[in-house]
Amino acid sequence: MDINYCQVCGEKLTLKQIGDEGMIPFCETCQKPYFKSPAPCVLVVVINEYNEVVLLKQDYVSKTHWGLIAGFITEGENAEDTVIREVKEETGLNVKSYKYISSYHQSQRNLLMLGYLAHVQKAEFIKSCEVDQINWFSINDAILNLREGSMGKQLFEAAMSRFEDLL
Ligand SMILES: [Zn+2]
Repeated sequence: MDINYCQVCGEKLTLKQIGDEGMIPFCETCQKPYFKSPAPCVLVVVINEYNEVVLLKQDYVSKTHWGLIAGFITEGENAEDTVIREVKEETGLNVKSYKYISSYHQSQRNLLMLGYLAHVQKAEFIKSCEVDQINWFSINDAILNLREGSMGKQLFEAAMSRFEDLL
């Protein structure tokens, strides 16, 4: 995703040498460099006391595949705040504890996804209007329903391989 114009003043950006970062798009008027940093988000495996996992379907993401809870880190939040907020917003459930697992770079949209495992107590879902379907899955069924090669599946497998250490 290339930025050609300043988001503050609208000036066309030029390339400028910035420290050891190389040639970076730069607004001469605002003296502002535009680094191509990825947008930070969280991706969360949510698991309950019966070892069931939450998967959800969001038609605007995919009509055919189930996925994990995900969301952008917003201004003023650390990653853990986002984990707690997104789980609450998308499922209605309260996170009791969480563990960081691994991070993934999604190159298509230039996202840095921070992967967590979050523990919740089983309860009725209160789903967000952004969520079209939501359900509990056994660990084996969850693996079958996550898209092959997706970040969600990679995180899920990483979380499960470390699951016993994390209990
Ligand atoms: Zn500018």
